[in-house]
Amino acid sequence: MIRTFTTSITRRLPVLNHVRLYRALAIESSCDDSCIALLERTKPNQPPTIIDHAKKTLHSADVGGIMPTAAYTYHMATIANMCRDFCHKHGISATSPPDLICVTRGPGMAGSLSSSTEFAKGLSVAWNVPLVGVHHMLGHLLTSFLPQSSQQPHANPPQFPFLSLLCSGGHTLLVLSKSISEHEIIINVSDIAVGDSLDKCARELGMYGNMLGRELETFINNIPQIEKDEFEAMNVDTRIGNKYKFRLTLPYQTPKNGKFNEGGIQFAFAQFLSNIQEYKKKFYISDRSSGEFDEKTKRMIAYKTQEFVFDHIIDRINLALKTHGLRKSTADGKLVGVRDFVCSGGVAANKRLREKLFRDLKFDEIGPDPFKFHFPDLSLCTDNAIMIGLAGMEIFEKLQLKTDLSFTPLRKWPLDELTTVDSWTNVDEDEVNRVCKY
Ligand code: AMP
Ligand code: ZN
Repeated sequence: MIRTFTTSITRRLPVLNHVRLYRALAIESSCDDSCIALLERTKPNQPPTIIDHAKKTLHSADVGGIMPTAAYTYHMATIANMCRDFCHKHGISATSPPDLICVTRGPGMAGSLSSSTEFAKGLSVAWNVPLVGVHHMLGHLLTSFLPQSSQQPHANPPQFPFLSLLCSGGHTLLVLSKSISEHEIIINVSDIAVGDSLDKCARELGMYGNMLGRELETFINNIPQIEKDEFEAMNVDTRIGNKYKFRLTLPYQTPKNGKFNEGGIQFAFAQFLSNIQEYKKKFYISDRSSGEFDEKTKRMIAYKTQEFVFDHIIDRINLALKTHGLRKSTADGKLVGVRDFVCSGGVAANKRLREKLFRDLKFDEIGPDPFKFHFPDLSLCTDNAIMIGLAGMEIFEKLQLKTDLSFTPLRKWPLDELTTVDSWTNVDEDEVNRVCKY
């Protein structure tokens, strides 16, 4: 099978002497990042240009995780100042407002979301500009439509229908997208998200920081190859299979759990954390009363855990490809015709995950044609307002929808209910034309 590999990277252009069509100001604060971005669409049906973006992140390393009230207070103290400076920098004011405001409506932490949604409503009223309340995961899903820096227009964007693995601190989903508004969740997560699990595993191993999944990757990258080979060859199916007495298995492999659970095919990541906690308790606290791993044991657990977490993702996706492909007599063919695979969200920044997906996914289950992978630029993988601006522009132009100012943030918002929630308002052709100046 031929596999092509594309990446897209953030394009930062000064305002050139092109014809300006319309600009969108985007704000995102669904979790612990306060983000703002300005995008400009200069040609219809082409990705917008990213004029600029900014991000500030709550420091949570000392308290061992993101506290919702601290995140709320942080955004309340940050967003307005950030927006004022950003608007000042780009000449945005009441006399020169953007044409559209996009803000994350959900899913996310209620307090974090509301600090931006209320602020965005205020801007929308003051500037008399339409507002779009954006689904955060639609933002992640669309980042691969942004071009590489050397490409204008995008030479190789994904084509509908396509599959997306959305893997972040709060979500892990495999989604089948047939259009901007039609998304089917093929695999959901039964407990905690992959990023959350990696963060907690890394903390359990004694790492410190804000983005511990990334710290864990760096820590593993620094393990000498000879040791990685040793860990790779080590059998951890049973405790007696290795000298560390370490046991690790992929979720949903035992006959008791079966391959499927009630909600269909699911991811599960909590057990990777409990596995380390139990091991620590059994072999390091009770037996040796130190509670700390020696350095080599720490490297082994870090290596094996990251490998198994990613192997689990691949195992579940391969099961989905088989279940919804065309080869087995029981397959339902739901994924036939899909030729593009997007991997997005914070964990998609991980090079080992990208490598494994590229190498181990069995796309021949759904057809013989070459398959294209799309991995957004690293800076677009974690939360940002660029993706919210892009998604908002697509919703406004293609779906001709905006959000009524009575809307409230949605802590939970399944992606397959994108347009069925309250407060969407149809935009007539005149308003689209007025805003987009086409
Ligand atoms: P998001 O929720 O999309 O902002 O992504 C944040 C999550 O991505 C956190 O759980 C991070 O630890 C995780 N993350 C970021 N970079 C990496 C990386 N290189 N490898 C693994 N996880 C990462
Ligand atoms: Zn996210």
